[in-house]
Formats: sequence, structure tokens, C-alpha cells
Amino acid sequence: MHEIATIERYQGCMLLLVSLLAHPAAASPWSTDLADLEPAFRGTVERVMAKLSARGFTPHVGTSWRSPELQDLLFAIGKSTQLAGGRSCHNHVDAAGAPAARAVDLWNAPVDLWLVAGAAERLAAEAPFLRALGEVARAEGLRWGGDWHGHASAWDAYGLGWDPAHVEVRGCAG
Ligand SMILES: [Zn+2]
Repeated sequence: MHEIATIERYQGCMLLLVSLLAHPAAASPWSTDLADLEPAFRGTVERVMAKLSARGFTPHVGTSWRSPELQDLLFAIGKSTQLAGGRSCHNHVDAAGAPAARAVDLWNAPVDLWLVAGAAERLAAEAPFLRALGEVARAEGLRWGGDWHGHASAWDAYGLGWDPAHVEVRGCAG
């Protein structure tokens, strides 16, 4: 059963890569730049990252902003998000339409295919960082995806909710 889930994830990842390659003209549908966060949230995220660094971790941004089109694709794959395009706090734009995400995904090591595929060693290696992320993010008044236990995921084995790298502004979807 776990193997089937991993294969589905791998297929989803391939679909995502093919789609991104097929639309090279699209203005970076997936950003890892802190400049694509809403300014006030960016300040909070930088504090969170500094606190984690002080604990000996090495925070890396997996996703800051992503386009509604990419959000729709991830939603269709059904593995990486529960929200359709435009409804994720990663999709938020400012009054001028420029990226101003109210959510960010942070990992201790750069995102690679093993992590996306859910390789057990990679998940286990990230778990201590993700627990610390939850503590620090909560202390900063943010919502943490590790608190979301709405459906089963590979993170259950580590006592984490289904989106443990994700932190967002409270009420950000409104
Ligand atoms: Zn996220």
C-alpha cells in the first residue's frame, strides 16, 4: 500500500515537471524567493529562520509563491495540496497583482526528488527540523501545517500532520 502511494507520487512529480517544461514562458510559476512573500510576513519568516539557525538547523525555502495555474495542477494530482488554484495562501498577490505569498514551506535540506517521492530516510532526516519549525512558528503566531491531521500521510509515522513544512499567516485565505 505504501509502495502504491509512492508510485502515485512519483507519477505526479513527473506530470508536474513535464507541465513546467511545457510552459517555459510562464513567469516563474514556482518561487523560492523570500521577496515573493508579503512584506510583513517576510519579516516574520526571517525571524523564524534565524531562530532555527540558532538551534543548529539549516532552513531552506521549498516554496514561497506559486501561481494559481500550478496550484490547480497540484490540486489535480491530489497529493501536495487540498486547495484549488487561487485559494492557497501561497497564491496571494498584492493590489498590483505581484506575488505576495502569505505562506512558505521550509525544509532543513534543499527539496530533491527523494523528498518529493517520500523516501523514508529523507522524511526521518527532516522530522526534527519540522518539529522545531512548528514550535517556532506557533510562538510567532503563525499556523503550522504539522498541526493538520485531516487525512493520512507518510508523516503520520513521525507524529506530524500532512503538511509539516508549511507555515502561513492566520486567516490568510480571507
Ligand atoms: Zn505550503
